[in-house]
Amino acid sequence: MSRILAKSFAVSILALLATLAISFTFVPMLGGEVSGAGLIMTIACPLVVSFPSSAILFWQSERVRRANSALAEANDKLAEAYRQLHNQSRRDALTGVLNRLAFSQELHTFSTSGAPGGLLFIDLDHFKSINDRFGHATGDNALRAIGQLLTSHAREADIVGRLGGEEFGVFLHSVTAEHMLDRSHRIREAIGNLEFRTETGVRIALGASIGAFHCAAGFDPSRALATADTNLYRAKSTGRNTVVA
Ligand code: GH3
Ligand code: MG
Ligand code: MG
Repeated sequence: MSRILAKSFAVSILALLATLAISFTFVPMLGGEVSGAGLIMTIACPLVVSFPSSAILFWQSERVRRANSALAEANDKLAEAYRQLHNQSRRDALTGVLNRLAFSQELHTFSTSGAPGGLLFIDLDHFKSINDRFGHATGDNALRAIGQLLTSHAREADIVGRLGGEEFGVFLHSVTAEHMLDRSHRIREAIGNLEFRTETGVRIALGASIGAFHCAAGFDPSRALATADTNLYRAKSTGRNTVVA
């Protein structure tokens, strides 16, 4: 408020000076004299007109400025909420890794960008028995732990997703077939070595079978997934806790 009054005061002084300059220049040229009541009016008029009108103008522009900044802030919050919502809609609520749809979309993006890589279809072994013996909540915790483990094994350009109940997908960006196999085995071993315990401290051994498929540049995402799934089926039928590529 004090800023508005100060600015209005400054404008009024300028208006007064301009009016005095005009009056003292033109009135004598027209044969008159600036004095007495005329001088009082020359001083009073610009002050009386200029001060309230400037104050109203500055007050209005201050309101517009504040409204604009509130609008910009609301816009930023909305954009942030949209970003969070968009991110959440791509994530699996239980494990935090990509959901099936987002994983497929990312796989498609890898394919169109010409990136080769290794696709792993991971299925936890005998997971139903964990639910049956320790309850669903423990099963959920195990799935969360697996999500974290897979994420920790992924490099920046890789993706991890939950493709179904106890099934996960990993795409290892730009790896050779040999490197893919090596990392698949390391993931399988890490799952086997995971120190997963129930809330009462009972250790539960986890295991996984992995169907791997090496994708050449421009691969077909659906066929790659189907082939990795076939390899997973073979890993299951050859006794589980193994990798088939
Ligand atoms: P296999 O070695 O042949 O893969 O055996 P499995 O028991 O892992 O496979 P199966 O398909 O028979 O059972 C999958 C189990 O995964 C059954 C289901 O209750 C469990 N499951 C799926 N989604 C969830 C989930 O979100 N939370 C929990 N706790 N369990 C889940
Ligand atoms: Mg399964
Ligand atoms: Mg399973």
